[in-house]
Amino acid sequence: MTPSERSAAPVPGPGIDTVRTVDDLRARVGAWRRAGETVGLVPTMGALHEGHVSLIRRSRTLATRTCVTLFVNPTQFGPNEDFDVYPRDEAGDIAKMVAEGAHLLFAPSRTEMYPDGEVTRVLVPGLGDVLEGEFRPGFFTGVATVVAKLLIQALPDVAVFGEKDYQQLQVIKRMTRDLSLPVRIHGEPTVREPDGLALSSRNAYLSAEERRIAPALHRTIGTVATHVGEGANPSQQSRWGIDILDRCGFAKIDYLEVRDAETLAPWPGPTRPGRVLAAAWLGRTRLIDNVPLG
Ligand code: AMP
Repeated sequence: MTPSERSAAPVPGPGIDTVRTVDDLRARVGAWRRAGETVGLVPTMGALHEGHVSLIRRSRTLATRTCVTLFVNPTQFGPNEDFDVYPRDEAGDIAKMVAEGAHLLFAPSRTEMYPDGEVTRVLVPGLGDVLEGEFRPGFFTGVATVVAKLLIQALPDVAVFGEKDYQQLQVIKRMTRDLSLPVRIHGEPTVREPDGLALSSRNAYLSAEERRIAPALHRTIGTVATHVGEGANPSQQSRWGIDILDRCGFAKIDYLEVRDAETLAPWPGPTRPGRVLAAAWLGRTRLIDNVPLG
C-alpha cells in the first residue's frame, strides 16, 4: 500500500465514516464518482439542530451521496465574537447525521484548512459589504473563502445552505457564479420553533427571559413584510419595526431593512422580489432573521 492509498482509507467514526484531511475527502468522493454516484455537500459549523437536519434531508433528495462538513471557521469570527465559546458537540452531531442517513463527515482541523495561514481570500464586494457585512467587517470574506475551499475540495454536484442566513446564501451564489465553480447552490427555507423563532446554534445563549422576547423578531419582520407587500412605504415600515423591537426589549437593533431579494440593494418596488432582513441584540446574543415580502 502506498502512503497515499493508506491515507485514503476512511477513518471509521462512531457510526459515520469520518475523514479529516482533504486527500481523504477527495479519495472518498472520487470513489463515489467512479461508482456513478452524485454528491451533495452540507457545510456546517456543528451544534446541529433541526435546521441543519433539513439541509441533510434535502441533500439526500438531490444527490445519491451526502457529505456533511463540520468546521468552526475561525476566519469568519470577529476579534470580539464568540469563536472560543461557540457550541461544539461532535458526538451529538454524528448521531444526528447517522439518523438522517448522511454518508460521510468531513471534519478538518484548523491546520488542515489553513496549513500556511490565511493569505488568499475570496472577496465579494457590494453584496458582502452591506447589512451583516457592515456590522461584521470581514465576515463574508471569511465565509466566501472557506466555502470556496470546501466546494473546491469536495467538488459536489450540489451544496445546500439555509435561507436563515439569507445574505450568506446570496454571497455564496454570486461567488460560485463569478468563480465558475461547477456546483449548484440550493437554498432551503428556515426551520423555526413553534413560536416562530428561527433555530440557531446561538439560541443556546439566551436566558429564559430573552427566549420569551426572541420570537418578536420574526413576528415584527413578518408584519413589515405584509404591510410593504400591501403597498406601505418601506422606510416608514422599517422605522416602525425598529421601534417595536426596541419596545419589546431588544437591546440594540443593527438593522431592519426591506431589500431586493437578489442584489440586497434597497428594494426598488413591486417589479422585483423583496426580502425583509433584520439583526438585533437580546442581551449579549445577536439574532438575525429574514422573510420574503408577503
Ligand atoms: P452554521 O452551522 O450556523 O454555519 O449553519 C450551517 C448551515 O445551516 C447554513 O447553511 C445555515 O444557513 C443553515 N441553517 C442554520 N439555521 C437554520 C435554520 N433555522 N433553518 C434552515 N437552515 C439553517
